[in-house]
Amino acid sequence: MNFHILTLFPEMIEQGLNTSITGRAISNGLLSIEAVNIRDYAFNKHQSVDDYPYGGGAGMLMQAEPVYLAYEAVRKKIAERKPETGSDDEPVKEKKLRVVYLSPQGDVFSQGMAEELAKEEDLVLLCGHYEGIDERVLEEIVTDYVSIGDYVLTGGELPAMVMVDAISRLVPGVLHNNVSAEFESFQDNLLEYPQYSRPEEWHGKKVPPVLMSGHHANIEKWRREQSILRTYERRPDLLEKSNLTEKEKKWLKDQIND
Ligand code: SAM
Repeated sequence: MNFHILTLFPEMIEQGLNTSITGRAISNGLLSIEAVNIRDYAFNKHQSVDDYPYGGGAGMLMQAEPVYLAYEAVRKKIAERKPETGSDDEPVKEKKLRVVYLSPQGDVFSQGMAEELAKEEDLVLLCGHYEGIDERVLEEIVTDYVSIGDYVLTGGELPAMVMVDAISRLVPGVLHNNVSAEFESFQDNLLEYPQYSRPEEWHGKKVPPVLMSGHHANIEKWRREQSILRTYERRPDLLEKSNLTEKEKKWLKDQIND
């Protein structure tokens, strides 16, 4: 999968993502992460990319043209890489390139969104700065508006890195184990069960005996129950959307009433 990140601070992206699991996946050729410096597309000799907002108000705004030119450069590069398919009579319709603008005004990023975006071959992430970006270029190029939470950051670089990290680990081969087959938080709208490693006893706390029983069916049952209980305690909003069986609902009710 190829990420193309349009930013005023490419070094921030490079430093943040060229290490650890994403760094290894880049070296292995499973991912490519291109940080495109919007300033390279400034059209004045001072290479400035921001200006005062019309109508007044605090702060500066990123101008439309450098953002557009940076996007166009990426779009053309992707189009050139893809071989021509179809015929003159029946040209194959190009899949629309997804362009995400990181914005506190967007839909809040979720595991479901990460799963959907991990299916793309190319993904463009546009990072704003200052007071944001001239609305006209957003209207022209952006397909998705995504926020990482209800707070305002100084720039879109950290949110873009959050998205790349969450999406990358769903790309086959990036993690050594096959995550799609493993249970993780948010699968079926449940949080993950508690986990333990050696030693068997630490600070007087013992590992739950069932985990050492070697009885796989009992372990699975215990884990599912713990997931349900944990989700009830920590994220009851999620639990409402999960598919509990009648038996599980009753089990939870009994736990709560105990
Ligand atoms: N004036 C904008 C507003 O009120 O919606 C906020 C601009 S913010 C200071 C600068 C940039 O940071 C935004 O253009 C966006 O790219 C990024 N940003 C800030 N908070 C974010 C969030 N919660 N999620 C995603 N991006 C965010």
